[in-house]
Amino acid sequence: METQVRPSPVSATVDFDSDGIQHGFLRLPYSRDDAAWGSVMIPVTVVKNGEGPTALLTGANHGDEYEGPIALFELARSVRPEDVRGRVIIVPAMNQPAFAAGTRTSPIDKGNMNRAFPGRPDGTVTEKIADYFQRVLLPMADVVLDFHSGGKTLDFLPFCAAHILPDKQQEARAFELVRAFGAPYSVKMLEIDAVGMYDTAAEEMGKVFVTTELGGGGTASARTAQIAIDGCRNLLIAAGILKGKPEVRSTQWLDMPDGDCFTFAEDHGLVRFCADLGDKVQKEQIIAFIYPIGRTGLKPVELRARRSGLFTARHFLGLVKPGDCVAVIADEIIG
Ligand SMILES: [Zn+2]
Repeated sequence: METQVRPSPVSATVDFDSDGIQHGFLRLPYSRDDAAWGSVMIPVTVVKNGEGPTALLTGANHGDEYEGPIALFELARSVRPEDVRGRVIIVPAMNQPAFAAGTRTSPIDKGNMNRAFPGRPDGTVTEKIADYFQRVLLPMADVVLDFHSGGKTLDFLPFCAAHILPDKQQEARAFELVRAFGAPYSVKMLEIDAVGMYDTAAEEMGKVFVTTELGGGGTASARTAQIAIDGCRNLLIAAGILKGKPEVRSTQWLDMPDGDCFTFAEDHGLVRFCADLGDKVQKEQIIAFIYPIGRTGLKPVELRARRSGLFTARHFLGLVKPGDCVAVIADEIIG
């Protein structure tokens, strides 16, 4: 007997096959105390002009990362159908409940969107959104750009990235778009926790998947917001979907070849960094001290770099816990 696959409970108020520009919602029924027949309303814009490839652009996969939503609300407001060939689907706040609350995960179910794939049509709110992307939006896409930043607990050198993949053609197309994005840094990325990621879902479908880490600390700077706006446009032009001239910028390529790139805390305490993002560090160099905060007179714990390279990402908040990623060091490579 064939198993019946339950349809997605999400319905779109836009028609993805119509030419022109439409601003609407992905509406997910969500019954709760203040609205028995309420819904989660995820803003979406679709711009289509004839035949051509489809780009799917997402921000706020994590709700406290702001460069993506800034670039995508701006693009949705300003893009003209006559400048598009094919289709652009824009979802500035993929995990809308998390974005509205200013938190990484959803306040409804504590769902981390980037660990929820492939999702479930009969699961939690976060799983239902993931399932809609998995079964409806991703299959429409040729190119997928998913914006991330450090959120409230991490800070990154601004970079665009793709993954090393078994399919070398798919990998090469992704790195072409990373170069076109033109962030100050471009990264060949290693994931420390790839199961359930949107990235993995898109890549396993054969899509060209590009992501970013553009800053952090639960805010966006003028510089990182502009990098996101320009990079998004550059990528769409390089993909042949948007007309116009790209802002060509040089980029420094970085590689994260193995787990030695990451330094984790083993103690609670107050972190004092001894290097800043963008500094070159040597293997065994002290990159941070962790001071115990319960009493005075104790020696701080030394955290040493496990490899030489460029200080690429760091813990953002002043206090750390055992298991927190304190520092990421990447190799500078010739692109
Ligand atoms: Zn993120």
